[in-house]
Amino acid sequence: MLAPPEVEYRVTPGIGWPLCVEVDPRIGWPNVPRETLDWTAALGAEFTRTGPTVMATASPVIEIPPGPRRARFDEDEFPPAAEVDPPAHATAESLATVSLPAPSLPRVFVVANQKGGVGKTTTSVNLAAALALGGLSVLVVDLDPQGNATTALGVDHPAGLPGTYEVVMSGATLADHVVDSPEAPNLKVLPATIDLAGAEIELVSIVARENRLKRALRSYLQDNPADYVFLDCPPSLGLLTLNALVAANEILVPIQCEYYALEGVTQLLRTIDLVKGELNNELRLSTVLLTMFDGRTKLAAQVADEVRHHFPAETLPTVIPRSVRISEAPSYGQTVLTYQPSSAGAISYLEAAQEIARRGVEESA
Ligand code: ADP
Ligand code: MG
Repeated sequence: MLAPPEVEYRVTPGIGWPLCVEVDPRIGWPNVPRETLDWTAALGAEFTRTGPTVMATASPVIEIPPGPRRARFDEDEFPPAAEVDPPAHATAESLATVSLPAPSLPRVFVVANQKGGVGKTTTSVNLAAALALGGLSVLVVDLDPQGNATTALGVDHPAGLPGTYEVVMSGATLADHVVDSPEAPNLKVLPATIDLAGAEIELVSIVARENRLKRALRSYLQDNPADYVFLDCPPSLGLLTLNALVAANEILVPIQCEYYALEGVTQLLRTIDLVKGELNNELRLSTVLLTMFDGRTKLAAQVADEVRHHFPAETLPTVIPRSVRISEAPSYGQTVLTYQPSSAGAISYLEAAQEIARRGVEESA
């Protein structure tokens, strides 16, 4: 066999590609020994010195400016019609001062839809606050590691703050970790922190893993009567959502008025059937709430019709409009009910809460 010809090469630091080489005529490719290309190891130290952009040594940190923010799609971007006018018969004052009827037994709602961004958290916190402002006692359990419900209820949730993780994973007592929300009297929240992100995997190896929350909640409700409990789920059908489906007796499905809305619901219904048959006989889909309704589009009205066709009894008459005020409120650590009580968004959540409260009493009568 012919010996390869002697070739000369130089490697440009930072490019990692031979510069100025002779090509082996039999291969048609720079004849460079492999180890020569591993210049990063040899020169790494020098590169880190010459500039962090060449070789990043730490993951980038995204600076989040402190303080509340206005939504970007504010008045200047959206024509004013985006905010539906509040119904003439209702004012925030008239609605917020109405005292709501209490159910005979605590109603435990799981707010579920494995689709993200459909308004689960927004619905959980605003309905909870509306019911609490109506004089009822309400608990929100934040099951999403993002902790958005905790934030929206005005509770800070630094990593390490005990909350849902401790209750589900270590069997801690729920009463030890619930926090009062400044949003309304008799409104409490079990906070979630990013620690909860690990629970989904850690739960896999735990005995009776789907009953953890149910047990904790039952023993809490014996000593701390509540009228309503909202379990705000993460956007997946994992073990945290399963725990919530087992602990609850009613399901509230927020459906965003947009295309694809019903696709995820089919999968959710299948999961509900499975849970019902195997783990929780009491569970029923009692409430569907249409969210982010944009009155300017035909599509929103079509989706709303379709949802009402599928769930005629379950769908609440009130529809939550797409509202800038609703989306801004959490950045102030508030629900829309205290952030902008006279907005269409606040009024629609107050109305939805009244409908839910009335149904609860009619059904148990
Ligand atoms: P999920 O909990 O299902 O992921 P969120 O409640 O967090 O959904 O809502 C997703 C995003 O949509 C959030 O930024 C929220 O502020 C915004 N949002 C929710 N409901 C409305 C509404 N009615 N109008 C405008 N924005 C909304
Ligand atoms: Mg959420």
